[in-house]
Amino acid sequence: MIIGVRVYNIYGLKEGVEMEYNIESLRNISVTESYSCPKPAWFRVKGFPKAPEHYYILRGHLLHSHIEDFLKANLVKKGVNRYWDISKNVDDLDLSDLLKSKLKEELNLEWKNFLTFYKAHLMEYSRKREVTKLVEEKISIELIDGFKLVGTPDLVVDHTIWDFKSGKGSRSISKEYMLQLGLYKILMHKSRRSNGDDLKLKLVFLGGPTYCVKEVIYTSGLQGDIQKVLNNIIMLRKQMINGVEPQGKFSFLCSMCSYRNVCRGV
Ligand code: SF4
Repeated sequence: MIIGVRVYNIYGLKEGVEMEYNIESLRNISVTESYSCPKPAWFRVKGFPKAPEHYYILRGHLLHSHIEDFLKANLVKKGVNRYWDISKNVDDLDLSDLLKSKLKEELNLEWKNFLTFYKAHLMEYSRKREVTKLVEEKISIELIDGFKLVGTPDLVVDHTIWDFKSGKGSRSISKEYMLQLGLYKILMHKSRRSNGDDLKLKLVFLGGPTYCVKEVIYTSGLQGDIQKVLNNIIMLRKQMINGVEPQGKFSFLCSMCSYRNVCRGV
């Protein structure tokens, strides 16, 4: 179905001009979009360019991509990948010298914490071939009419879903973290990778002087909240198909949003 949409003028286009896009390309929504703000999905479908990556997102991506390589090499493929030349990685980035120095310092600390965590909680699995290990595996389930919910847990091993958090922010288990891990559990269960019931959900905070592990308990309350999220995104998708622009959900996450330039002009 092709429908017209409002065009924003920050790209030199006139406000009120209609342009066409194909709503059928709204084939999936990520776990993060599902519980935080649905509007990035709308901007994505319309093909708006993304804003430059926010510093925190960039730091998270660098750390996660290296953790992924490390876990694949050490837990899954039996390679060797212990050393990360963070300085070289960061020096190649288009950042000021001040930000580069800050980034190196933070990544060095988080990487050191990750290696300590790995030795204490995961290294034993490198020898256990019989244990299923999923590292950054994209998992999707159909919600309605081919529309899918897609998520990529950082690591699933031995009946535990692990999610790594970078940054020195609060180490408390926020509602968003509970929804994120709860939705991963649903993905694992509905895609038949696990029966779901026996899966533990754990967060690993890597910023700060040491790492910290916290477990999310899957309560009936969380289950109810997740059902509301799923119902809501199915309803939003129906509205978007009919050309209704979803409301943005403003929060502290807006400053890091990929479409903050389109949505808020910042
Ligand atoms: S800037 Fe905020 S409200 Fe706008 S799309 Fe991003 S997260 Fe949603």
